[in-house]
Amino acid sequence: MQEGRTLASAGTATSPATEDLNVYRMSTLQLDRALRYLPSIKRGLIDFLKRPARSIIVEFPVEMEDGSVQTFTGYRVLHSRVRGPGKGGIRYHPDVNLDEVRALAAWMTWKCAVADIPYGGAKGGVACDPKKLSETVLRRITRRYIAELGDNIGPFEDIPAPDMYTDAKTMAWVYDTYQMMHPGRNNLPVVTGKPVDLGGSLGRREATARGCLFAVQRALSRGLLPGLSSVKDATVVVQGFGNVGGIAAQLFHEAGARVIAVSDSTGGIVNESGLDPNAVARHKEKTKSVQGFPGARNITNAELLAWPCDILIPAAMECQLRGDNAEKVRARLIAEAANGPTTPAADDILFARGIPVLPDILANAGGVTVSYFEWVQNIENQRWDEAEVNEKLRVKMERATDAVLDKQRQLNERVAKGEIIGADGIPIREQADLRIAALVLAVERVANVALERGIWP
Ligand code: GLU
Repeated sequence: MQEGRTLASAGTATSPATEDLNVYRMSTLQLDRALRYLPSIKRGLIDFLKRPARSIIVEFPVEMEDGSVQTFTGYRVLHSRVRGPGKGGIRYHPDVNLDEVRALAAWMTWKCAVADIPYGGAKGGVACDPKKLSETVLRRITRRYIAELGDNIGPFEDIPAPDMYTDAKTMAWVYDTYQMMHPGRNNLPVVTGKPVDLGGSLGRREATARGCLFAVQRALSRGLLPGLSSVKDATVVVQGFGNVGGIAAQLFHEAGARVIAVSDSTGGIVNESGLDPNAVARHKEKTKSVQGFPGARNITNAELLAWPCDILIPAAMECQLRGDNAEKVRARLIAEAANGPTTPAADDILFARGIPVLPDILANAGGVTVSYFEWVQNIENQRWDEAEVNEKLRVKMERATDAVLDKQRQLNERVAKGEIIGADGIPIREQADLRIAALVLAVERVANVALERGIWP
C-alpha cells in the first residue's frame, strides 16, 4: 500500500517472491492486462483513461485536545469525469498516501462503469489514525479538509462518501461544512452515506455487503461453481468485521450460508458448525475484538485466509491475497468486498488453480450504487422505502454480474478462435479471468462515452 512497499524480498509484480505491493502500480498493471484484450483502443485514449484528471494534496493545521497544533495531509483524486461527476469515498488511515488514493480513484471509475451508474471515479483520504483521535479532533479534521477542497467537491463536480474508518457521522460533518460555505441551495447531494435523518438513503449502510451477496448469488445461480447453485448451506469465511465484513457475515448468514470464520484487525475466530454473526458483533462491541468469542477458536489472519470454505470474502485492506499466500487458499470462490485485496501475482495463481475471483469493481459496487440512489433521492427531494432501494440494488447487481460473466465468455471464445491479436501481431492465448473481463467491460463503456463526447474544445 505504501510507496515502495514490497514483500520481504523485493522485485516485480508477477513473481510471487518479489512482488511489488504498491497499489497504484498494481491498478495500472491490472489495467494493462485488460487492455491486451482491447487492441483497437488508440494509445492516446488509453493514456487519457489511465491518468487521473486531477490530484489534490492539502496540508492543514488542526488544534488537538491538549491545545497543541498538528498538521495533517489530505488527498482528493478525481480520476475520470467522462461518464459523470467524480464519485468515491473518503478514507482515514495512517497509511493513506497519494498512490493509494490514485489507485482507489481509478477503481471507482471502473466500478461505476461496471455498475452502469452515471459517475466518473474519485477518492479521498486523510493520513491520520482515527483510533487514536477524539471525536472532536476528527470533526475538526473533516471540516478543515472539506474547507480546503473548496469547490473541487460539489453535487455535480465530485461527490464523497464513506470509506475505511469514516461513516455516516463523518458524512454529516462533510455536508454541514459544505452547506455553511454554500448556503441557500439544496446541498444534500454533495455527499452520500449521510445519516438517514439527514437525507441519507435507507439501505446505504448495508449496501456494499448486500450488493456482494447479490453478486455471489447471481454468479452461483449461473453455474460459476459446479455443484453449488446458491449460498444456502455454503460455508463462508469473512476477513474484516467492519461496516462491510460484519454486515456481509450477517447477510450471508440470513441467506442460509454457514459463516464458519471471521476476523478483524486483532485476529480471527473459527467454529466449523457456524458462527452467529449477530452474537459476534455484540461480543466485538463489548470487548473491541472478535477474538475470545465463546464457543469459537482463535486463529491468525494467515490461517483464516487459508481456511477451507466455499466462499472467502476479503473485506478489509488491500494486498491480502498475494503471490506468497494464494497457493494456500482453500476456498472455491473469492468475492472481493474490499478494494484491491488480491494482487496480480495472486490473480495468476488463483486463476491457474480454477478459483474464480469476483473482482472488487463488481463485488463491492453495491455501496456506490446505493450512493447513487441517495443522490437521486436528494436531487428529487424523495425518500424511497428500504425494500425499494434493495430491489433496485438487486437489479443493478444482477445486471452487472451478468455483464461481467458474459464478457468473460465472449472474450474467451474469441481467444479460443485466435481472434484477439496482441501488439506483437501474435494472437493472445491466455484465457481472461473475471477481473480482466470486468475491466474490459468498464474500459469499453468509458471509452465509448469519451469518443461520443469528443475531446474538448
Ligand atoms: N467507498 C466505497 C467504495 O469504495 C463507496 C463509494 C461511494 O459510495 O461513493 O466503493
